Parts: sequence; C-alpha cells; structure tokens
Amino acid sequence: MPTRNNSSSTAPLDKAERERRENVHPDGWRNPVPAACYSLVVIGAGTAGLVAAHAAAALGAKVALIERHLLGGDCLNVGCVPSKAIIRTSRLYAEMRHATSYGAQIPGDIRVDFSAVMQRMRGIRARISRADSVRRLTDAGVDVVFGTARFTGSETLTVDGTTLRFKKAIIATGSRPDMPSIPGLVEAGYLTNENVFDLTELPRRLLVIGGGPLGCELAQAFCRFGSKTIIAQSWPLFLPLEERDAAQILSDAFARDGVEVRLNTRAVNVRVEAGQKLVDLVSDDHKSTVAVDAILTGTGRVPNVEGLNLEAAGVHYDADDGICVNDFLQTSNRRIYAAGDACLEHKFTHTADASARIVVRNALFPGRQRLSALTIPWCTYTDPEIAHVGLYVRQAHNEDISVKTFTIPMHDVDRAIADGEEAGFVKIHVKEGTDRILGATIVARHAGEMINEITLAMVAGIGLRALARVIHAYPTQGEAIKKAADAYSRSRLTPFRKGLLRRWLRGWA
Ligand SMILES: Cc1cc2nc3c(=O)[nH]c(=O)nc-3n(C[C@H](O)[C@H](O)[C@H](O)COP(=O)(O)OP(=O)(O)OC[C@H]3O[C@@H](n4cnc5c(N)ncnc54)[C@H](O)[C@@H]3O)c2cc1C
Repeated sequence: MPTRNNSSSTAPLDKAERERRENVHPDGWRNPVPAACYSLVVIGAGTAGLVAAHAAAALGAKVALIERHLLGGDCLNVGCVPSKAIIRTSRLYAEMRHATSYGAQIPGDIRVDFSAVMQRMRGIRARISRADSVRRLTDAGVDVVFGTARFTGSETLTVDGTTLRFKKAIIATGSRPDMPSIPGLVEAGYLTNENVFDLTELPRRLLVIGGGPLGCELAQAFCRFGSKTIIAQSWPLFLPLEERDAAQILSDAFARDGVEVRLNTRAVNVRVEAGQKLVDLVSDDHKSTVAVDAILTGTGRVPNVEGLNLEAAGVHYDADDGICVNDFLQTSNRRIYAAGDACLEHKFTHTADASARIVVRNALFPGRQRLSALTIPWCTYTDPEIAHVGLYVRQAHNEDISVKTFTIPMHDVDRAIADGEEAGFVKIHVKEGTDRILGATIVARHAGEMINEITLAMVAGIGLRALARVIHAYPTQGEAIKKAADAYSRSRLTPFRKGLLRRWLRGWA
C-alpha cells in the first residue's frame, strides 16, 4: 500500500509538533500487508476506535485500525486536549488580573504571550499523543492502516484500493464541525476547532458564532487572552441544555470577563473590507454590523457518515443523527457496530470510550451490554465549570417523576470562600419520598471533578442518605455534596419525628 504524508495542520513545526506527528501519523508510513481476514476492523482512530482496537487486541483478536488522518482523532488533536490546555493558561491570566484580591501584587503590566500559550499547548498535546501513538498500537499487535475506508460489501471494505475482509467491523468515524450557511463566510475565511489551535497570533477582535459548550469555552479563553470577544447565539439562551440558573451564573462570569453575549442573534452576512471582516447580525428586528479580525464557528457537530458507502454494507444511517444503532450499538448489518460521535447523541470523549467498550464486548462475545445502561456525566469547562449527570428537572417532569431538589450555594462552602471561588452551586435531585439520586448539576470552579462523586453514587445505587455518612476532607469544595446530603437528612425530620426527639432529649435534662 502507498505511503502518505501526515497532517494538514499549519501549526509551527517545532519539536513538540514533530513529536506529535511522528506519534499520530509518521511520515513515510507503510501500511502492513493485510491479513486474510480480520476478526475486527475498526474504522476511525479517535477515542472510540483506539479504545476498541486496544481492547480487542488485548483479548487476542486480529485487529486492523484504519485512520484517514491522525490517530487520536478530535480529542487529542483539535478538541479536548488543546482546548483544555489553553483554557488553563487563560484562567491563569484571569487570576493574575485579580491578584490584588488574593493579597498579591503583579509588578508591571500583565502582557499576554499568545505564542507561548500555543507553544505550551503543543508541548502538552505532543506528550499526551504518546498514549495514542502508532508504536503503542503496533506493540499491541494492531495492524495500523492509514487511508480512507469504504465498504464494498457486508464483510469487505477497501482502503485506497486494498481490500480488507472482516468478521466484525466497528464504525468509529466521529464527527466534524457543522458549517453554518452564511453568505460570504467561506470567502472571508473562518475558524473552527480544526484550525483554531494552529493560530500563532491572537485575533484582536473575535466573533464566536454559537453559544454551545465549544463556543462558550473558547470565547471565554480568547477574551481572557485579550481578544475583544462577542458570542452571537441564535437561540434566546446559551448552553440551551443546561439549567437556567447554571447558565445565568456563567452569563455573570462572562460579563465580568468582558465577553459580549448577543442572544437571539443570527449572523446573516460576512464581507471583507480594509482587511477586516464585517459581519451583519440580526437580533430580533434589530440589525447591526460588527467588525472583527476572526470568526470562530461553533454551531454543532455533524456525524461523519459520507463516503463510507454504507449502502454496500447494508448499514442504515441518517445524515444528522449518524449511524443508526440499537441499544447494543449494532447497526442494521449484524456484523457491523458503531461507537462514539458517529452514532451517539452525547458526543464526548468519555462516551466514545464507554461505547467502544460496549461494542467490543457485544461484537466479539455473546455480550448484551446496553448503551441505555450507562450513566453519563458531562462538563463544560468554562470558569466556573458547569457539570451535569442524570435527569434535569424538566426531564423528570416530562416523565411524570416527582423530584425534590437540594441546593447548596458555593458561597456556603468554606473551601470555596478560602479559594475565592464562590460562584456556583451544587444541586442534587432525588425522587420525591426517597433518597435515590436522579440527577445533579454542579456549577463551580472544579465542577467536572465534583460531578464524579455523584456519578459514582448513581452507578453504585448509593442514595443521598449514604452520602451524608461519607466523611469529606475539610476544607474541600466536595463538601458541598455532603452539605446537600445533610440537607436531605434534615428534610426527613418530620414534625412527628422532631417531637419524639424533643421528648427523648427532655428526659435527659
Ligand atoms: C473543541 C472541542 C473540545 C472538546 N472538548 C471535550 C471535552 O473537554 N471533553 C469531552 O468529553 N469531549 C470533548 N469534545 C468532544 C470529543 O472530542 C469527541 O466526542 C471525541 O473526540 C469523539 O471521539 P470519536 O472517536 O467518536 O471520534 P473522532 O475523535 O472524531 O475520531 C474519528 C476518526 O475517524 C477518522 N475517519 C473518519 N472517516 C474515516 C474514514 N472513512 N476512513 C478512515 N478514517 C476515518 C477521522 O479522521 C478521525 O480521526 C470536544 C470536541 C471539540 C471539537
């Protein structure tokens, strides 16, 4: 099979970048001679594909992993890893600006070195790329095949002209950024997650189209680096999935940072004049034009289903929702399964990972693991973070489930006060009359860490009553969860029980 080169990235080719590329798509790579028949062929080497390939090879299956671009997929190369790396630095800049409130002085002006921010990010990305490297896969016995996969039948596919035969296959082709159809946008040039991490210069003025997690995370980060940042969100609210009080706290944080949020606002036209991008915005009936240096789109994700010739394999799909799967992640072709963003509603790295594990069990063994059995948390890594697991109150109401909610504001938590991180709350919903946790939303600096305790409780069937008995180290932000559990315990003190207690204690006097 032919060799191929490895990246369309325009990031500076420094030592870190060379290491990443060597790990995730080495120059001059020669694909192996294919086996007569693979037990498992995995298409796509993002999180889902890598997890599936490693797990199946470790179990002794003969596995081929096909990747058309970079091992590690979105998460490593253009998603979670680079975004979290730059978000960390942006948080540091925000803290430096508030140094005096911590009793510290920063001598002189705070100057943002954007090129150093991106260099740090590339170093982190290169280091993490070792875990997703071609070497790790080949050491595990996986045949790594670079090229574009296309089905030719229900048990065969080709990679750039070479046929691979399989007993089972997994489609883990992920997703790509949705491209909003705004006249003039393409001609003017725009950023998505696929090229924003290649930037070497900070845009002085940035318009972010889309107020979902990606738009919010990057808008706040760029604003903290010093870009004059506007978010244009066509909906009347941003982070539309989250509870309103959670989004409101973030809205306040954006206002403090200086991010301008324009709700109910659509970008309708883009043109370039005198080297700047002029974007016409329509908010209800009000029209305005903003001049910016860069436009970042974050309007959603589209599953990668095109070009796979799924018809030849008898695999049903939908252009918007992706590969159609049942609860066992099996497609309409019983030999072929799907995992990750290509088929899931919740497009996260941890769900890509969890779904890949389900698929390996179900594809290679008489497994009947169900997607619906998963409890899936998620987090938006703004400052404060917004994390969620389980049901929202509106979902519980839609399902006619009565809920009781216990809320602890972070300003009642000693550690949050000491750290100056008081914005947010822990809100835990239980089924009325029980301590069974149905869901939780946490808004806090470290909400993504804190939600794991609630997820653990839900998966293990641990109720709020038991959480009240768990000693939490003092002072930690996680104490907010204990306080919510204590609030639950107090709510069980009915007037009758209180009366009994009073009588009992009176006997002691
Ligand atoms: C900016 C950003 C930040 C994010 N942050 C987070 C976060 O903090 N936490 C989190 O949980 N999630 C985050 N996500 C989401 C996360 O990155 C994805 O959910 C995850 O990468 C999905 O993994 P996957 O394996 O399904 O797909 P992908 O990572 O998209 O991998 C699919 C792979 O398949 C390959 N491919 C496609 N078609 C073919 C073909 N025909 N032949 C061969 N190969 C093919 C692609 O090249 C790609 O490498 C973020 C996403 C973005 C964009």
